[in-house]
Amino acid sequence: MTSAHLGHTTRRPFLLVNIGQLLTLRIEGKSGPRRGTELSELKIIEDAAVLCASGRIISVGKTKDALRDPWVRKNRKKLFEIDCTDKVVLPGFVDSHTHPAFISPRLVDFEKRIAGASYEEIAEAGGGIRSSLADVRKAGKKVLAEKSFQSLDEMASSGTTTVEAKSGYGLSLESEIKSLEAIRNAARHWPGTVVPTLLAAHVVPPEFEDRRENYIDLICEEMIPLATKRKLARFVDVFVERGAFSIKEAGRIFRVARTHGLGIRAHVCQLSAESLGALLEFHPRSLDHLDYVRDADIAKLAARDTIATLVPAANFFLGTHRFPPARKLIDEGVPVALATDYNPGTAPTTSMPFILSLACTQMKMSAAEAIGAATINGAWALDLADRKGSIENGKDADLIVFDVKDYREIPYWLASNNVAFTVVNGVMKETQNSSR
Ligand SMILES: [Zn+2]
Repeated sequence: MTSAHLGHTTRRPFLLVNIGQLLTLRIEGKSGPRRGTELSELKIIEDAAVLCASGRIISVGKTKDALRDPWVRKNRKKLFEIDCTDKVVLPGFVDSHTHPAFISPRLVDFEKRIAGASYEEIAEAGGGIRSSLADVRKAGKKVLAEKSFQSLDEMASSGTTTVEAKSGYGLSLESEIKSLEAIRNAARHWPGTVVPTLLAAHVVPPEFEDRRENYIDLICEEMIPLATKRKLARFVDVFVERGAFSIKEAGRIFRVARTHGLGIRAHVCQLSAESLGALLEFHPRSLDHLDYVRDADIAKLAARDTIATLVPAANFFLGTHRFPPARKLIDEGVPVALATDYNPGTAPTTSMPFILSLACTQMKMSAAEAIGAATINGAWALDLADRKGSIENGKDADLIVFDVKDYREIPYWLASNNVAFTVVNGVMKETQNSSR
C-alpha cells in the first residue's frame, strides 16, 4: 500500500487567496440534506478567499474584500497566506462508508472472480468476508491500528478529511472490540475526523453457522453494550442480504442499538431486492448500496432524511456492469451520498476522486452532483452536517485545494490525484503526489 507523503503542517491562522473557483456549497437558509436540483448547487465564488484560524473557517468571500478586512490588514504578517491562482477549492470529502480494519488483500477471491466466480459463489467457498476473519482475529491491536492508519493517511492524500470506519472482520466479542479500538487508536494519530461504526452483523461467523440466533444474542447482549460503554462506536450497521442477515434480524439488532443511543445504518439491496419499509421505521441515518431498490421504496426514501449512500467502486470492481439507479434516486428527490466502501473484497480503493469519476461515467451524475454527494450529503449521512461538508463561517476548516482550473476536471482526470494540499481540521497538509 502506498502511503501518502504528508509533509508540511501549520496551525497558524491562514488565508487562501486568489482561488480560481471556491465551491462553498452554502445554500442560504437551507437545512436538511440536498435533494434534486439542490444537489448540484455548488455556490461557486470566483477569485475567492478563505480565512481559517483555530481549526475553523472564519470568513469566506472575494479576495479583494478579504484583503480589505480590518482584522486581516492588522494581522497580515502573522497570517500564513497561500496563493491559489488557477486552483479549485472545495470542502474536504466525507467518505461515509469504509471498512479499514483488515489486514490482507483478498487476492485469491480476486483471481476467482476474474475466472468467472460470483460474489455468492466465492462466499460459499469460504472466501469473501469470512476469509478476512483469520488474520484479523490473529492480529495484535497495534498492527491493526497501523493498517487502519495507513488507509486513513492514503485517504487524506486524495482529499478525504472525514471518514466513517466500520469494524466487521473480527466477528467475535474480542475481535470486534479490538477492531474498534484499532480504529480509535489510528484516528488519534490522524488529523481528520473518524466516525466509528460497529458492524458485527457483517456475516454470521463459521462457529455460529448452525446457531445464528446465538450470534445475534452475542451482538445484542454483549457487543453493543460494551462498544457503547467504552464509547467505541457512534453507529451500528447490519449487512442485510441473503447469506448475511434478514430484515427481521436487523430489526432486533437496531432496537438494541437504539436503546444504547447509537445511530443506525445498513447495507441493503446490494445483491438482491429487499423491501425497505421495516428498516425505515428505525430512521436510519443512511441506507447503503441500493442497487436493487424498488420504485415504491424510492418514493418512501424521497419523503425522509435517510441518505441513500451509493458505492459504485464495488460495482466496478465486481465487474457486474450494473450500477445503482443514481439518476432515478436524485430525480425523485432522494438525498444521495457517494462513498468508497473501501474494503479488501469488493472496493480496494481509498480515492474519492475516482468514486466521482465512476458516479459521472457509470451512473450519469453530473460533476456538480457528485461533489455535493461526496461532501455535504456525506456529512448528513454521518450526522455531522453542522460541522462538515460545506465552506461557511464557523464550520471546521476541512478544505481540499485541487491543482485544476475547473471543478469538472476533478472527476474528468480518471484515477489521477490532482490534490495540491488539504486542510484537515485546520492543519495544513501538503501532498507530494500530484500526478500531473
Ligand atoms: Zn460496505
